[in-house]
Amino acid sequence: MSGLNAITLHEAADLLARGACSSEELVRSVLGAIEQRDGTVGAYTWLNPEQAIEQARAADAARRGGHGGPLAGLPLAVKEVLNVRGQPCTCGSKILKGYLSPYDATAIARLREQGMIFLGRVNMDEFAMGSSTENSALQTTRNPWDPTRVPGGSSGGSAAAVAADEALAALGTDTGGSIRQPASFCGCVGLKPSYGRVSRYGLTAYASSLDQIGPLTKDVRDAALLLGAMAGADPRDSSSVRQPVPDYTAALQADLKGMKLGLPREYFIGGLDPEVESAVRAAVDRCRRLGAEVVEVSLPHTSHAIATYYIIACAEASANLARFDGVRYGARVEGADPIEMYGRTRAAGFGPEVKRRIILGTYVLSSGYYDAYYLRAQKVRTLVRRDFEEAFRGVDALLTPVAPTPAYRIGEKNEDPLQMYLGDIFTVPANLAGLCGLSVPCGWTKSGLPIGLQILGPAFREENILRVGHAYEQSAPELKRRYAPASRTPNTEH
Ligand code: GLN
Repeated sequence: MSGLNAITLHEAADLLARGACSSEELVRSVLGAIEQRDGTVGAYTWLNPEQAIEQARAADAARRGGHGGPLAGLPLAVKEVLNVRGQPCTCGSKILKGYLSPYDATAIARLREQGMIFLGRVNMDEFAMGSSTENSALQTTRNPWDPTRVPGGSSGGSAAAVAADEALAALGTDTGGSIRQPASFCGCVGLKPSYGRVSRYGLTAYASSLDQIGPLTKDVRDAALLLGAMAGADPRDSSSVRQPVPDYTAALQADLKGMKLGLPREYFIGGLDPEVESAVRAAVDRCRRLGAEVVEVSLPHTSHAIATYYIIACAEASANLARFDGVRYGARVEGADPIEMYGRTRAAGFGPEVKRRIILGTYVLSSGYYDAYYLRAQKVRTLVRRDFEEAFRGVDALLTPVAPTPAYRIGEKNEDPLQMYLGDIFTVPANLAGLCGLSVPCGWTKSGLPIGLQILGPAFREENILRVGHAYEQSAPELKRRYAPASRTPNTEH
């Protein structure tokens, strides 16, 4: 059966349940698309086709025996930063070359229990630091809709794989936008859960007070399904929260009657690309027509969010990345004594952006500067969180752009880190405040690039944003475009 690579998880589950296709056919279809397209897209960093087919056959046999829930036998692509037993977990870095995970992250273990198949690993910015996947030490990943452009980042491989129908769905991580922004650049759905909703055990830490694992999918229902399967308290992550996990798919309704949505004034500013602004405003109008009441709100500390985020994220990264010293993990460059060995290993193993952030982070934590930078950033973080608390007193969710521009050209911003950081303006505040956020496709530029709408919700109110995203998406089927590799990649495919 052809075209199985282009369907959603829930469509695949229906076909499997009706016996209309097998898990093996599904996996083979995805592997076929990877073979045909990934030379151009460059999403996958590692694949295990034989094992995936074997697991699919086992899932088919189990199903014939009456076993298997909705996710059983469905293949998933996983970002290089999550531990999957027996698979590489390079985090996009040379320093972890050759490392194989000895265990499953909790999110992976939960999906494995449901019978999902982890068929391959997808590219990312080194240690999830970046917004374009250009900081990967492994390879270049291209935007499927225009291979001269970036897929976004840091979960660029996840988004590109889903958009190019080389995966039914993927997992990514979001510390400051790394699920939502690549989803918007590639035209797929991306969900960042609230801080504490999904266990971080087995996620290689970048900035521990900001990191979350979440799905990148072809529609909102799939995001709800995967979140429901991964979420919930975990004794191995003390920051995971003991709150019941609702049935997220039950929250999906056709309209937005009775919902109140806020438009933050500070998110519609100079520098916002006009095509992005008009697509987002059109999406807001549609939400109104679906029955929502829309009001303007204010988040006055928004302009401080980037500086605050980069101080806190770098500070935490400088501590988290201290463990990569050539002793326990990955690569080592020998030296005359341990100090020289550490220095050589880290000099050779880390790329320039990671080094920049370790240096910045060490600086803001150092005695004499701690109060001026790190402590002050923590105080501003509180102000950013209070802005949202205030806004959410009156509304169920906020509607904003995901990024100020559509996908930019490969190389366009990579030489200027500050320009790259500024592109994170609309996504980092949600991480600072621990909120949940969803990116859904809301339009296309004249040149054929996707545009994303961001829906932000209060912490542990994923059902709010999923409901808004689903109703909006279902009301706008004309936004869906089928990826067609031959006509879309003329400049690189021969
Ligand atoms: N672009 C942001 C950064 O570079 C966010 C990355 C992320 O969410 N992992 O830190």
